[in-house]
Amino acid sequence: MTSGTIFNIQKYSIHDGPGIRTTVFFKGCPLKCWWCHNPESQNTNHEIMFFEERCTVCGKCIKKCPQNAIKINNNFPEIDKFKCTLCEKCVDFCPNNAREHVGRNITSNELIKEIVKDEVFYEQSGGGVTFSGGEPLMQVDFLDHILKRCKDRGIHTAVDTSGYAPWKSFERIASKVDLFLYDIKIMDNEKHKKYIGAENDIILKNIENLSNMGCNIYLRMPIIKEINDDNDHIEKTIKLLSIINVEQVNLLPYHKIGMDKYRRLKMNYKLSGMEKPSDERMEEISQKFKKAGIKIKIGG
Ligand code: SF4
Ligand code: SF4
Repeated sequence: MTSGTIFNIQKYSIHDGPGIRTTVFFKGCPLKCWWCHNPESQNTNHEIMFFEERCTVCGKCIKKCPQNAIKINNNFPEIDKFKCTLCEKCVDFCPNNAREHVGRNITSNELIKEIVKDEVFYEQSGGGVTFSGGEPLMQVDFLDHILKRCKDRGIHTAVDTSGYAPWKSFERIASKVDLFLYDIKIMDNEKHKKYIGAENDIILKNIENLSNMGCNIYLRMPIIKEINDDNDHIEKTIKLLSIINVEQVNLLPYHKIGMDKYRRLKMNYKLSGMEKPSDERMEEISQKFKKAGIKIKIGG
């Protein structure tokens, strides 16, 4: 497939693998992590975000909508998602930019053009391109195609993945990926189902298989208070690392960036009131990995 759906291309990224990188965010994810800071990535379809603080309730969008899909609800114009055809008239005619379209179909030619614009920075910094999301392996045909084109140009490639994809998809792309940024979120399967919406057995099997293939892996662990900052999870992860090889572990403390997006997409945020883990707890967790001889970094 030579076209895919993305929602952002971020230039000069420094937290998505080595060096200066371009990060391409794919739309669509099979998981629903409670702390997801890119909720606009979850839906495979395009969406419209609403910034109520910019809306003056002028009513233009209501008049312009050809589907009659917008009605005032709780003092603001609300879109009925079942009627909306994503024609974007309400985006275009809003005088205050209160609506933004999320999602873009892009061809591999267009994407490669964007990626190669910064080739000089990749060369100077040891960087490259990172495919993130969402879950990029949900669009494996497009991902595979674009990875091949990057490799043909000698661009370093990283794939940021939840690990929740069929093994045959990983097997297909593995030889074109220089680095996997691989999430391990919760080792306990019941908690995994509750907070992430799926079992973790596929994720654990896939990382073992990638390790057996000799792939380079950075393991990424989001740390959320009272959800996965417990010693049991940390010790089970350290045990996992006795049978798989990873170059380093990144501990990613929970943050609230992205919380507002839930409101803008009319999605429910289940962690309001959650605080980030303390620096002391992050350091304690970090020490446990160091004692086990594992290279560890707090942050991306
Ligand atoms: S056109 Fe824009 S400012 Fe006017 S009601 Fe619609 S969203 Fe609000
Ligand atoms: S995108 Fe088009 S159909 Fe959907 S609410 Fe806006 S104007 Fe109506």
